[in-house]
Amino acid sequence: MECVLIGTGGMMPMPYRMLSSMAIRLNGKLYLFDAGEGTQINWKKARLGVRGLKLIAVTHLHADHCLGIPGMLMLKAQMEAPEPLTILGPPGTREFVERTREMLAFRLNFPVEVIEWNAQSGSAAYRDEQAQIYWEPVKHTRFCLGYRFSEHDRAGKFSPERAEALGVPMGPLWGRLQKGECVQTPRERTVSPSEVLGPPRRGRHIAFVVDTRPAPGVYALCKDADLAFIEGMFLSEHAEHAEQKGHMTACEAAQIARQAQVARTVLTHISPRYENSELKGLEQEAREHFRHVRVGHDLDTFEVHYPEELSCGRL
Ligand SMILES: [Zn+2]
Ligand SMILES: [Zn+2]
Repeated sequence: MECVLIGTGGMMPMPYRMLSSMAIRLNGKLYLFDAGEGTQINWKKARLGVRGLKLIAVTHLHADHCLGIPGMLMLKAQMEAPEPLTILGPPGTREFVERTREMLAFRLNFPVEVIEWNAQSGSAAYRDEQAQIYWEPVKHTRFCLGYRFSEHDRAGKFSPERAEALGVPMGPLWGRLQKGECVQTPRERTVSPSEVLGPPRRGRHIAFVVDTRPAPGVYALCKDADLAFIEGMFLSEHAEHAEQKGHMTACEAAQIARQAQVARTVLTHISPRYENSELKGLEQEAREHFRHVRVGHDLDTFEVHYPEELSCGRL
């Protein structure tokens, strides 16, 4: 699994920092979180290809988070026979997508399903064969959602010794047990997967939370995440401004990461008032509260390994 920061800016695109957008690539499928204005520019630089794009999750209907959607739809429509696309977002997302498509008169050659949050939605927004996506309202100047991408747990580790002891010979029967099927041994004993598999192994969890003040939903989404992209828009000298505009400082983001016991955190949605040369300051402030944090740059790519594959430090 890899996460690619397509854009790390907030408010307006800068020559050196595009707007909020992050892609998760898992087994050839692409899940995009936010699509700020101009997302397709860095998307192309990242060379992700558009065929695998199956979902866009929008946090809220501010221009720096959603104006890139029409461009991504048009990009996908250039493919021959693209797969369907799902769009998740707050109330109003469907109207935004439909109206822009009508007004800009572009044609789509694939089905688009828009799923909008509502008060009865519950925390599970979407599920496919490899992951589940959760959403929670956060606290911004207009209704905004945070997301969590949770890979399904995997079956437990197979024990060849146990299988042999139970009389299951090495071969296709082992494969069937690993797929969760019961099998019959040559001596006609039925062996179930639970007899030869260890406990289920945890999948990988990614949080994406931007444009919010600290709020309960933010903690819930970040809790025990392997990697969390959290808004760290301002230095603490601009904390008052952050509060007025419904945003967070880098320190606040780092405190959330620590309390939610995130494995590692990347700060994103950086204010256009900071040059890239000033980002070290943001990072230093954040590290006073949480060690495993860094500031993200456009096109940074993060490999996310299974916890049992990690042999060394976290960042
Ligand atoms: Zn924003
Ligand atoms: Zn906003």
